[in-house]
Amino acid sequence: MIEHAELGLLDGFERALINDRLHLVYQPKVSLSDGRLCRLEALVRWDDPELGTVPPSRFVPLAERHGLIDHLTRWGIDTAFSQWRAWRDAGIDCGLAFNISALSLEALDFPDLVEAKCKDHGVPAEKLVLELTESATQPLVRLMDTLTRFRIKGIGLAIDDFGTGYSSLMQLRQLPFSELKIDQFFVADAAHSKDSRVIVEAIVGLAKGLGLVTTAEGVETDAQLQLMRDLEVDIAQGYRVARPLAADRLAPWMTEWEVDWAALTA
Ligand code: C2E
Ligand code: CA
Ligand code: CA
Repeated sequence: MIEHAELGLLDGFERALINDRLHLVYQPKVSLSDGRLCRLEALVRWDDPELGTVPPSRFVPLAERHGLIDHLTRWGIDTAFSQWRAWRDAGIDCGLAFNISALSLEALDFPDLVEAKCKDHGVPAEKLVLELTESATQPLVRLMDTLTRFRIKGIGLAIDDFGTGYSSLMQLRQLPFSELKIDQFFVADAAHSKDSRVIVEAIVGLAKGLGLVTTAEGVETDAQLQLMRDLEVDIAQGYRVARPLAADRLAPWMTEWEVDWAALTA
């Protein structure tokens, strides 16, 4: 049974999706060795005239439950890839990260679809990283074949929210990830808790041993940024670096960040 409130939200979301009223914002991921922009993570936004701003944590699970997730994924890929082209034509060269629901990976031809979209938009496969989150109902280990196909095509795979939820060492052992994103809980906590610091250190050691790039998520303060550098995390992302940005805010942010990084590391 779908509750009345959920039905209203679902109806609104479907209309927003069909009428192209969703949009993407992009959050920078920067190298902790030289401050350079590595990638932009695309994050979907829905600002509804009646419902107000609805967070993705509410409507993405709704789209998953009601068969709209593939439509959302395809729309997001087309939008983000066109934007990537516009940036590249403006001389901004960086990678793109995209969140994929495990449900979209159920289709065996999904890697071919993503590869075709890369070709259509002229996005080299090596520029793309797909971010995946394990959940109780959708264990990623089942999706081994699909994940391997992405890696064969040169597309990167990141395990999101690592260290909390359902992510496990078994996945790291079995699945062809290229990047590990340390959950923001540990990043925030490590600045004042020795235990969390030890956990981040262990995760970094583990990732390095397995040849994975590490990203610290949710870096909000100078102290957290400095600590992640000291712990030899490769990439930082979070409000201290940049909030998720509208596409036209990227160029001004890059100018500001260059100065900011120089001051931070002076
Ligand atoms: P996520 O992939 O783990 O994304 C990180 C979330 O943390 C984002 O929330 C981002 O805005 C927020 N964030 C970034 N830096 C900081 C920080 O320094 N401090 C704090 N407190 N938060 C920070 P958002 O945009 O609300 O997205 C929530 C989740 O929704 C994402 O978690 C992702 O799992 C999902 N999502 C977002 N966009 C998409 C999409 O296009 N497709 C799919 N399937 N899922 C999406
Ligand atoms: Ca993510
Ligand atoms: Ca995350």
